[in-house]
Amino acid sequence: MKKILLIHTGGTISMMEDKETGAVRPPEHNPLIHTTSALHSIADIFVEELFHLPSPHITTIEMLSLRDRIDQAVLNEGIEGVVITHGTDTLEETAFFLDLTIKHDIPVVVTGAMRSSNELGADGPYNLISSVRVAANDNAKDKGVLVVLNDEIHTAKNVTKTHTSNIATFQSPQYGPIGIVNKRGVSFHHTPISRDTYEIKMITKNVPLLKAYAGMDDSLLSALDTLQIDGLVIEALGQGNLPPRTLPMLKKLIAKNIPIVLVSRCFNGFVQDIYEYEGGGKQLKGLGMILSNGLNGQKARLKLLVALEVTSDCHKLQEMFYR
Ligand code: ASP
Repeated sequence: MKKILLIHTGGTISMMEDKETGAVRPPEHNPLIHTTSALHSIADIFVEELFHLPSPHITTIEMLSLRDRIDQAVLNEGIEGVVITHGTDTLEETAFFLDLTIKHDIPVVVTGAMRSSNELGADGPYNLISSVRVAANDNAKDKGVLVVLNDEIHTAKNVTKTHTSNIATFQSPQYGPIGIVNKRGVSFHHTPISRDTYEIKMITKNVPLLKAYAGMDDSLLSALDTLQIDGLVIEALGQGNLPPRTLPMLKKLIAKNIPIVLVSRCFNGFVQDIYEYEGGGKQLKGLGMILSNGLNGQKARLKLLVALEVTSDCHKLQEMFYR
């Protein structure tokens, strides 16, 4: 049997509903610790609770601890697959951070739940079992970090939380899942053709994320200029355009060598240098802004944080964001 490390980090999957008030919160002891007996017929399971946090409390510090723990488990403990339970709010961010920073080709699967452990129709135990089955499957190797919920296998790069409460919340817009889990087994129908990973020790930079809107001016950008930022990600309009009144401050930030990555606030498609009007993508690219390859804003922010630990050269950063 494969040696699988199961790391709990918290989230609804580890929470309980108060039957009187309906409030959902983390109990003192993680209820998942006791539900792992069903997993032992699938793999040799080693269980750890690294954190017991709601996922809005997760930062890059916890993401790095997870990365370090997985490195150690693979290099020193012969672990052949990893399953991580995580709150769904920032699950895609932790999964993508690990995708960018783990070099090993073993399956690493992140999962969670939309209903807490004692709610009717709780999806956590089923998602957990599905994830262990995926992590124990040979075909799950070398596919980057995977996200498994609701019978679907997604890549960390493409998956996003699309619904506040539905158990089918995790989707990969434009691409779809790369595999499915059913009662008889695990099957993959797609394979990612490439993956970029970066060797970093720490996250030391400050990169905020802004969303563009009709009539936006440069007041928020002026405020950001006072905050010592090292980079900026903007969820731009459509194919990568911005309202013209943002331009004066954007030019000022670029003159200070602050890399600005543009993604789209549309959740399908890439940003491109198509439009040649004031604030259009052609002008923005000409000013030196970095166009991204379809990542959403929260993932582009993590990628810029990681990339800035490797280089601050805008041309190299642009290359990284084409990948
Ligand atoms: N708010 C919860 C969290 O992210 C949601 C969940 O886990 O589903 O921790």
